[in-house]
Order: sequence, then structure tokens, then C-alpha cells
Amino acid sequence: MAAFDVTGRSVIVTGGSRGIGKGIAGVFAAAGANVLVVGRDADAAGACAAELDAGAAGTVSAFAADVATSAGCAAIAAAAQERHGGVDVLCANAGIFPDGMLADLPEAEIDRVLATNVKGTMLAVQACLPALTASGRGRVVITSSITGPITGFPGWTHYGASKAAQLGFMRTAAIELAPRGITVNAVLPGNIVTEGLAELGPEYEAQMAASIPLRRLGEVADIGHAALFFASDQARYVTGQTLVVDGGQVLPESMAAMEGL
Ligand code: NAP
Repeated sequence: MAAFDVTGRSVIVTGGSRGIGKGIAGVFAAAGANVLVVGRDADAAGACAAELDAGAAGTVSAFAADVATSAGCAAIAAAAQERHGGVDVLCANAGIFPDGMLADLPEAEIDRVLATNVKGTMLAVQACLPALTASGRGRVVITSSITGPITGFPGWTHYGASKAAQLGFMRTAAIELAPRGITVNAVLPGNIVTEGLAELGPEYEAQMAASIPLRRLGEVADIGHAALFFASDQARYVTGQTLVVDGGQVLPESMAAMEGL
């Protein structure tokens, strides 16, 4: 079998309308999958799908829904069932990262981050369970982060907690879903260039790149390729695991480790 061939598989990418999710969707579409990109903004999701669909080996279409609600997640699963006959791969990628120091963090903001990043991941998996089970080779790929599971950054206590919580969810879900033939894994991106980061300008990007051993920020396709591995037949015996994709960002034990290189 060809490496990482996902021809004809039904793939959902939540948060697929821009950023990392769009990169994941592009990689799967290029590899022959039928991809549903999901975001709350229908116009943005539609424009993204049209762009990715053009010339892809697979197909890309859009669906607007909020992953923070069970009704939204049920609608996503139903759309994939109707358009692609089921769900083989769920990329639970939708996430938000508003910043705010702990001392002043409003309760509503904590709730909003946890509702999207943690509850949204859980509800999306739950809604897709019947279809993932029917697939016979169901795959869940969660987009977590280095922030929380491995590193910290002032202003992101709630976000870091949510990204670590996704891994707690993953480890027990991997055990519960193994008898159904479903694997559950997570990609932990470092700093990835997205539309949002690009707006901060080249100087900001260069400063961030200086602290990364590979001396560049990640591209969205770098995360897409890691997700494609977890979704592939070749990864069938891998479950409950994390893959850090960060150019070595978490490795230096101090700034001195990067000096003179
Ligand atoms: P982004 O560019 O802001 O894109 C977020 C995507 O999620 C959009 O498509 C957005 O569409 C969607 N979304 C947000 N809330 C949603 C909701 N409630 N329901 C459905 N869709 C929703 O973010 P990103 O930087 O690509 O981040 C994507 C994931 O990667 C997140 O889980 C983030 O934690 C993780 N991550 C990012 C980086 C990085 O460097 N960028 C690093 C580590 C981890 P709508 O706004 O239209 O809903």
C-alpha cells in the first residue's frame, strides 16, 4: 500500500477554515480524502473549501457549526455522513487562544476557552463515535499544543490548561475506543505561521524563530503531515500518543544552549 494513502476517506477538520486546520485539510485533500472543513463563519469556511477543492486529488466542502455545543457537533457528524457516507477521520482542531493574565482573567473567558478547546474536542469525538466505529479504522487526531502539556507562557493559563486537558481526555478515550478499532492521538504544534501570526509582521516572526533550533516557525502543512501519519493505515498500532512538531523549540534548557550556533 502507498504510504499515507487516504484516498476516498471521509475526513472532518474542525477549525478547518483557516490557520492550522486549513493546512491539515489541504494535506488530506492532496492525499485523496473527502474533507469537510468546519468553522462558525460559513462564508470563511466556504471560501476556504473552494480554494482547497480546486485541483485537489480529493474533495473539500464546508460546514458551519459551533463545536462548543452538542447540537453543533451532531450536525457536523450528520453532514459528513450525508456527503461522504460516514466518518473515517476526525481532526479535532478547532481552538481559541485569547490572552489574559490570571490576576484579571474573567470567569466567562475561562469558560469560553474550556468550552471550545476541551468540551468542543470531547463533543466532536462523541458525536462522531457511531460513524468512526462503523468505519472499522476510525481515527481521531487532536490538535493540542506545546503550551500547557510541556511549556508555559504568561497570559495563557486558561489556554495551557485546556491544551493539557485535551491530552488527559485522549489517554482515556484511547483505551475506551480501542475495542472499536478507533485510535486517538494528538499533535503538539510549536509556533506555526498562520494568518493571525502573519499580521504581527516579519520582525516578530524573526524574533520567535531565533529561539527555535531549526531557526524557522512551522508551516501549517507541517502539522498536516503529522496528522496524516496518525490517520494512515501505517499508524494503525499507535494510539494515545503525542507528536511534538516544533522545530526543536522545547529542547534548549536555557538561552545559552542556542548561543554561538
Ligand atoms: P486560528 O487561525 O484562529 O483558526 C481557528 C479555527 O477554529 C478557525 O477555523 C475558526 O473558525 C475555528 N473555530 C474557533 N472556534 C470554533 C468553534 N467554537 N466552533 C467551530 N470552529 C471554531 O487558529 P490556529 O492558530 O490555526 O489554531 C488551531 C489549533 O491549533 C488550535 O487548537 C490551537 O490551540 C492549536 N495551536 C496553534 C498554534 C499556532 O502557532 N498557531 C500552536 C499550537 C497549537 P471560526 O472562527 O469561523 O469559528
